[in-house]
Order: sequence, then C-alpha cells, then structure tokens
Amino acid sequence: MIKTEAVREAERLRRALNEHDYRYYVLDEPTISDPEYDKLRRQLEELEAEHPDLITPDSPTQRVGAPPSTRFAPVRHRAPMLSLSNAFSEEELRAFDQRVRKAVAGDVAYNCELKIDGLAVNLAYEDGVFVSGATRGDGFTGEDVTTNLRTLRSIPMRLREPVPGRIDVRGEVYFPRAAFARLNEERQRQGEALYANPRNTAAGSVRQLDPKMTASRGLAMWCYSAADVPATTQHQLLERLSQLGLRVNLATTQLCHTVDEVLAYLETWREKRKDLEYETDGVVVKVDRVDQQERLGFVSRSPRWALAYKFPAEQAMTKIEDVKFYVGRMGTLTPVAWLTPVFVSGTTVQRATLHNMDEIARLGVRIGDSVVIRRAGDVIPEVVSVVQDARTGGEREVTAPERCPVCNTTTEHGVGEVAYRCPNPNCPAQRAESLLHFVSRGAMDIEGAGPALIEQLRERGLANNPADIFKLKREDLEQLERFAEKSAQNLYERIQAAKRRPLERILYALGIRHVGGTTAYDLARWLGDRLERKGTLADVWRVFRESTADDLTAVEGIGPVVARSLHAYFHDPAQQSFLDTLASPEVGIELEYPAPRPQSGTPFAGKTIVFTGTLQRRSREDAEALVVQLGGKTSGSVSRRTDMVVAGESAGSKLTKARDLGVRIIDEDEFDRLLARD
Ligand code: NAD
Repeated sequence: MIKTEAVREAERLRRALNEHDYRYYVLDEPTISDPEYDKLRRQLEELEAEHPDLITPDSPTQRVGAPPSTRFAPVRHRAPMLSLSNAFSEEELRAFDQRVRKAVAGDVAYNCELKIDGLAVNLAYEDGVFVSGATRGDGFTGEDVTTNLRTLRSIPMRLREPVPGRIDVRGEVYFPRAAFARLNEERQRQGEALYANPRNTAAGSVRQLDPKMTASRGLAMWCYSAADVPATTQHQLLERLSQLGLRVNLATTQLCHTVDEVLAYLETWREKRKDLEYETDGVVVKVDRVDQQERLGFVSRSPRWALAYKFPAEQAMTKIEDVKFYVGRMGTLTPVAWLTPVFVSGTTVQRATLHNMDEIARLGVRIGDSVVIRRAGDVIPEVVSVVQDARTGGEREVTAPERCPVCNTTTEHGVGEVAYRCPNPNCPAQRAESLLHFVSRGAMDIEGAGPALIEQLRERGLANNPADIFKLKREDLEQLERFAEKSAQNLYERIQAAKRRPLERILYALGIRHVGGTTAYDLARWLGDRLERKGTLADVWRVFRESTADDLTAVEGIGPVVARSLHAYFHDPAQQSFLDTLASPEVGIELEYPAPRPQSGTPFAGKTIVFTGTLQRRSREDAEALVVQLGGKTSGSVSRRTDMVVAGESAGSKLTKARDLGVRIIDEDEFDRLLARD
C-alpha cells in the first residue's frame, strides 16, 4: 500500500475502532460482533507494523478500553489495568511459546485459565476489609462502583484473614446464564426489549446509578490476579486468593508444562464450556513463574507473559420464517430474518440481521431457507450461509421494499447506495427511533424511558419531538399506564437531572448523521475552547449556523463527510424550531463542557516534551501517552519550543541539540519522580 493510502486507511480504521470502543465500553451497546471488531483491530495493527511512524499514542492499538464515564467518580488505579494480546490460531500460540522460551531461561510452565466474558474490576481491601471497587476504564483511571459491587454476593466484604495494609484484587464480573435468562423472561413478560447478550448487560448492570438495580441482577465474580499479595507463581497466587475467601475458578484452571498440553486444554474447553453456568470467550495462557513474568515485562497495552486465545464464533442451524424490514432513525430499511428460535452461546436467538439487499443477494437467502447463523458473545446475530441441500423448492425470494412498512411512503434507493430509505421525516417509526435515541444511555440518559413509554407519550401527543420530553409535567406522567404516583415522580426527577448533561451528550443525542460519540466529543471540546466555556446551547447553535462546511473541517477529528452532514443538519428548515425549543429557557438545559486537558497542576501540563534514546521501564509510546494524559504535548524533534527532553539510554543527536539549546534534560528516574508527583 502506498504511504498516502496507508495514512488514510489508518485514519479510517482508528475512527471506526474509536467509535466501537465508545459504544462497547461507555454505552455497553456495541453494534458489531467481537470477531468483526477483532478483525478491524488486526488490520490496523498490521498497517502500523508496516508503517511504524503511523503509530500515535492515542491509537486504539495503544490504548486499553475507553476513558471512564462522567456518571461515576474517577478512581486512579494503583497499577494500570491492562489488556491481553490475542491469538486466534495454533500457530500464534506456538509463536508465543517460542518467544517466551527464548526470553527466559529455565523451564516454563503455563497456568491456563478460562477467559470469562464479563468486565474487569479492581477490588481494594485495606486490613482485610473491602474499601473500594472500580471498573477498568482506560486502564489508568476507572469508575468508582463501590456501592454497586457491595451488592454482589461473591465479593467478600471482609477477607478470611485480616491481611495488613492494602491489597488490590482483580477479576471479572459476569452475568450467570441462568440469571440472564430469568431477566429476559421477566422483560418479555413486561413487554420490554430483550437484552442481547450477558457480557454487555453485566457491564451495564455494574454501571447503574441505582445499586438496588445492580443487586437485583444476580451478577457474580471470578478473581484472577492481585497486587501486593506475595506469591512466586500465578497458580500459588490463585490458591492464596481462594484461601482468603475470594472466589477463584480453580476447578477449571490447569498448570501445563508444554505447548501441546496447552492445546489439549484448549480443545477440552472448546466443547466443555457450553455446559458452564457462565460465558467464556477463550482461554488465558499465563507464564506461571512470577520471576519469569517480570523478566518478560510489558508491551504498551498488555503483558508479554500472557496470551488470550479466543474461541471462534459459535454457529447454529435454523430456519428463516420471514424477512421483515425495520425502519431506523434515519429512515434506512434494514432486512431482519425472523428465525425459528435456536439456542446459541447461551441465548435463544429469534432474529438475525441481513444487513441490506446486497447481502441478501450475496448469500442467496430466501424465505423458508435453512441457514447457519453466528453469534460470538456478540450483539446482533447474523446469517452466515444458506444450507443449499435443505431446499425444498417452496422457498420465496426476498423482494426489495417498495413502500415503507410503517407509513407506506414510496421508498428511495439512491444511485450507488446500498440501502433503501423511507424519505418521510414524519414517519412514525423514524420519529419514535429518534426519541429513543435522544433518551438513550450515551445521549440524554433518562433511565426508564424505554420503547413502551415513548410509544405512550407519542400516542397521547405528549412528545412529538425530543424537546417535548423536557416539558413534561408530573401530572402528564401520572396519567400514563403502569405509572403510579411514585414512579411518575421518579421519572420526572430523572428527566430534570438529564437537563444537566455534558455538551457532547447533547450533540450525540441530536442523532445527526455520522456524528457518533467520539465525533460529538471532538466537537464539544472545540466549542468549549471557542465559547470559553461560557456559551449557552443557543450560542452553540449560533456557532454551527454561522459555520460553513469548510470551517467545520478545521475542527480536529472532523472530516469533510461529517462536516457536510453537520452543516446540512443545522441549516435544515425542519430542525430550526426544534433546536430553538431545546435551547429555550423553558426547557432549561444547563451546559457542561468536557473537561479541558489539564493546563496546570501537573509537571507536564501545557509543556512540550521530547523523548530520545531507549527507556528501560516503559515503551516510548507508553511514556508519550502518559505525558498527553497529564496535559502535555510530545514532539519528535527538539526546538526552542521544547520544554523538556527525556533522555533514555544511547540517546543521540536530539540530546546534543537539547544541550546546545539549553533545554532541560532529565533521565528516566527523574521522569518517574515527576509522574509520581501528579
Ligand atoms: P480482551 O477481552 O481481549 O482481554 C483482556 C481482558 O480479559 C481483561 O481485561 C480481563 O477483563 C479479561 N479476562 C477474563 N478472564 C481473565 C483471566 N482469567 N485472566 C486475565 N484476564 C481475564 O481485551 P479487552 O481489552 O478487555 O477487550 C478487547 C475485546 O473486547 C476485543 O478483542 C473485542 O472482542 C471486545 N470489544 C468489542 C467491541 C465491539 O464493538 N464489539 C468493542 C471493543 C471491544
């Protein structure tokens, strides 16, 4: 690939991965499956390996998770919570084994553990008493979910021994299959939308504002590592944690001495995992001896001494009973296959997406076909292939929708476009979807405002557009079905609370085409600088109305497609009165801008730092990311504007230049001291 193409492709992949990270880690609502995500990530990794100069410290390949949400107090981890390198094949596992054996002397044993599909949390114990619990967040800072974690019965509030001082225990919180099935049965009875998979529902349940809600879900936890608990091997550490009363999955853990034993373990669990009461998405292979782990150390986002071997996506066979078209928020018609219910990866699947008419043609799918569907700890199951041998001749072709199934308007199909669209902006389905999007988690986040409520509000003419929701009175809510005085009061309060959401949430809530969570964040930062954090929502609208599409491309992170879409939205006559109402004092939105990068208070804030030579304790990328996190900037070359040069071993010309210019030069020890001062 030529360089300019590589730059563009890396940019595209980064944007896509950032957006998926946001949906997965912040909203707990991914829109692609994990294998698809892993494929995108691999593409970016390969591109960066080919062109190392394209690697930026903020590339998704260099980061863990996503920044913690503002719903919870931030907790800075004592030691970073990292990710794991992935392997998908036997060759990759063997290559890992060879790398390990080359790097460490002596015998190597691997502690093999099941990879629990949940979310990582850190539990802090002081003198044996549970004092705080946090999510992983971006690996450095997580969210304080102590009160929620206190409701989990598998987390002991007191260890069985009063271990002096502080220890940090890490593990995975997950949704047991039976509890998940019970929750969905209950939701079905209540006519509410079913949760797609246990992993994301577990993450959502831990990140609830109401601990009672977390408690009612029946979550559980397995512990698999700890800091400040003396042990010479991983296996010994797990035994010690178990002794302390923590829940450890020792029954499925196995110490393996050769790579063939590891492969046999993998084979065993590939099948046996289906009988477990929780979901696993792979196996984690860890070098057992702690001294060897220390010798191997870390790469930017994961330890070199561990590997996550991921199981392939699970598949099942079923029949397509019908294909129906769903109308999305933007009017896009998506074909969805209605399946004979089938049990895959712990969930009963009844629907699978067919994406669009091109995909239907590619697969050759007909109504009545037997098909293979795939689901891998993922969100929306998809049809993989048609079982041609099972055809009876009675199958029917799927025809493109000529009319919108909801409002009956003639559909549009732009030249060169894949999707069929309902062009009617007043289509009830589009309106309902826009309202739902507006109140959803990553947007205005009004808990309890689900499809049933939105439908009632629309039927009664109480909410025709999203701004109306903020105008609802207590009495309006009390007349709704299934709303007693108390629940109406609760919902009313949640609506009032939603008037104080960060600007990026509001921008995301508008549902502008191509404006996802990360773009909304970039825009909010830009607006915060431009309006000096004093502007009201009306000022924000004014900035957009006065900007040309060209002006908007100058915003960091905004490309021409997004800029055009923003420009079109803010100049669309149909939106003006809604936007003005939303910004009106009657609605009363109080703006909050995203926190600015720290400009003071850290040794790197507002400074430009250059690294040269080899650092011993961390990679160059890690060090640069730390500086950026603490409000600094990094640069590849030394100039008069450089504030500090961090010189590692065998530093060369940059060091000489720094000396010539009289720039402050520090070594890695001094850098560590400055970091500790933060
Ligand atoms: P990972 O899931 O590949 O592995 C690291 C995690 O494994 C640890 O943080 C820990 O939480 C967990 N784990 C479970 N059992 C463990 C054990 N016994 N020992 C140690 N760790 C154990 O990496 P990640 O950074 O957590 O997440 C990345 C993955 O998440 C991706 O590969 C993808 O599958 C998924 N993801 C999906 C989307 C999407 O849009 N579908 C978006 C982002 C991430």
